[in-house]
Amino acid sequence: MENQTLEAAVSTRTCPFCGEQISETAQKCKHCGEWLIKRYGKSWVITYLLCSFFGALGIHNFYNKKIGIGIAQLLTFGGLGIWWIIDCIMILCDCYTDADGLKLDRKPTIGGTAVFCALGFLGAAGFHRFYTKHIGLAFLQLFTLGGFGIWTLIDFIMILTGKFTDADGNLIKG
Ligand SMILES: [Zn+2]
Repeated sequence: MENQTLEAAVSTRTCPFCGEQISETAQKCKHCGEWLIKRYGKSWVITYLLCSFFGALGIHNFYNKKIGIGIAQLLTFGGLGIWWIIDCIMILCDCYTDADGLKLDRKPTIGGTAVFCALGFLGAAGFHRFYTKHIGLAFLQLFTLGGFGIWTLIDFIMILTGKFTDADGNLIKG
């Protein structure tokens, strides 16, 4: 037990950014300052909802600390709506980043996926697939109205029975 502790303390690896030796468990390189773990920004769901409902006022950009862009959107009413729509699409496609250049945090849960899928029956088809990063299939569902509801229904059953996976093939859990 004592040996293990000692080993863990001296165990090192090479920083992929600067090549210096760093602690195995380090989250940030002490030499070059690069982050070694994947970091995410604010919640994807909240950002998307803010953009959907208040995007013309730039509220989603204020939420993500992009104050300058937020003010510009507020004054131009979201670039007369065009900028607003572009931001919504950027968020859906996981291309939106916050003020620090971080991608949004979207670890999909069964509950969230089910809620987004249910919205498909109200005309927002495919949103659960954007949420789980199946971007291509999401657009396909959007344009076919969820395969006329049938595809949405099948997905809904898959989600509730815990058989739905994200784009990386991981089962949606929790
Ligand atoms: Zn480094």
